[in-house]
Amino acid sequence: MTQQHITILGSTGSIGCSTLQVIALHPEKYRVFALTAFSNSELLLEQCKEFKPSYAVLVDIAENQDLTQRFKEQGTQLLFGIDALEEVVVHEAVDTVMAAIVGIAGLKPTLAAASCGKRILLANKESLVVSGQLLIDAVKLSRAVLLPVDSEHNAIFQSLPVNHQLGLADSGVEKIILTASGGPFLHRQVNELVDITPEQACKHPNWSMGKKISVDSATMMNKALELIEACWLFNASPSQIEVLIHPQSIIHSMVAYKDGSVIAQLGCPDMRTPIAHALAYPDRIQSGVPTLDLAKVGSLQFESVNLERFPAIRLAYEVVKTGGTASTILNAANEVAVDSFLNKRIRFNQITDVIEAVLNQITIDAVDSLEVVLAADQQARSLTHNIIEKSEV
Ligand code: NAD
Ligand code: MG
Repeated sequence: MTQQHITILGSTGSIGCSTLQVIALHPEKYRVFALTAFSNSELLLEQCKEFKPSYAVLVDIAENQDLTQRFKEQGTQLLFGIDALEEVVVHEAVDTVMAAIVGIAGLKPTLAAASCGKRILLANKESLVVSGQLLIDAVKLSRAVLLPVDSEHNAIFQSLPVNHQLGLADSGVEKIILTASGGPFLHRQVNELVDITPEQACKHPNWSMGKKISVDSATMMNKALELIEACWLFNASPSQIEVLIHPQSIIHSMVAYKDGSVIAQLGCPDMRTPIAHALAYPDRIQSGVPTLDLAKVGSLQFESVNLERFPAIRLAYEVVKTGGTASTILNAANEVAVDSFLNKRIRFNQITDVIEAVLNQITIDAVDSLEVVLAADQQARSLTHNIIEKSEV
């Protein structure tokens, strides 16, 4: 196989760094074409020293000659501003795009990658949540390839038959079992959730991740977003997906077939495995992750989700049923609420209350254009800010 040329959107984040670790093991297979970051210029420069990309992008930093010069000395042309993300995605030299920006900020460059037929390794689940229809349509129209990096979806993808896009039921699939660790507060009483600090919420028992997804895991909004993500990726209805708590995160999800078989993907909880799988698919490459030692793990536990403790999951089922911009609104309200929690403006247990209040107050539209999606996102963001400022929850 010829060398794949890769753009990594969000290379300074948790997924971005893990992707570079896997790529570093296979310099003959992958060449980094571009790296992008929001504002961490020092880490981005370090990455450029090692991987020598043609381009680097700093989204939130004004044009700066000194920085430009320092990147140039590494052989990298530095671009500034949000529009440069699309430039380094649609470039004809690019084969593969790792979409690892967090939040709706990842939407436009991911859509651009889809529209010009790239191979997309999708970590940025929010882009499917906010505009699944547009992204899937763009992928189909341009024959792009969309490979899931989210560990659960990667596990489901590995456990499904190759022809599953023809329809889950026709492929003999009874249901998808989406596993969830339950996060750090799985067994806390509801009244104990009031005093949880951002530091406690960001300490996940199994995974090391960015701040936003860590808080999402603690509220189980991460699983809610993943349920929506799974519906789009696998053309599934919400009734075909069951969320199951599995605190050890060893099974990364499963597929149950109508003959009674259940196929699961297991491994150490380390994102380098799904990243390596998506990078090399359909081949297999070393990821740097040790083989699972099941004797050491000892036992695997499972329990069903308590929807009262974790209203996020209930909201996700409702939102998928409603369709249209409902999931766009859910995502926007969540991004604002998580940010407010991290900045200590609301309490942990108010995050899902805020989101539900926003969902109850906005009219849902059909998603037929990016403009509709972005308008719903803006409307939901400002309403969420208003609700938080007025402390209506
Ligand atoms: P992170 O916060 O560690 O990194 C985010 C990256 O995006 C950084 O490089 C940052 O510079 C960039 N970024 C942030 N805001 C931006 C903006 N407005 N414009 C442009 N770039 C911006 O996040 P992460 O944990 O690596 O997660 C990235 C994505 O992958 C998220 O969508 C998350 O849900 C998904 N994901 C992460 C994990 C994980 O283990 N970390 C697992 C599954 C899925
Ligand atoms: Mg996941």
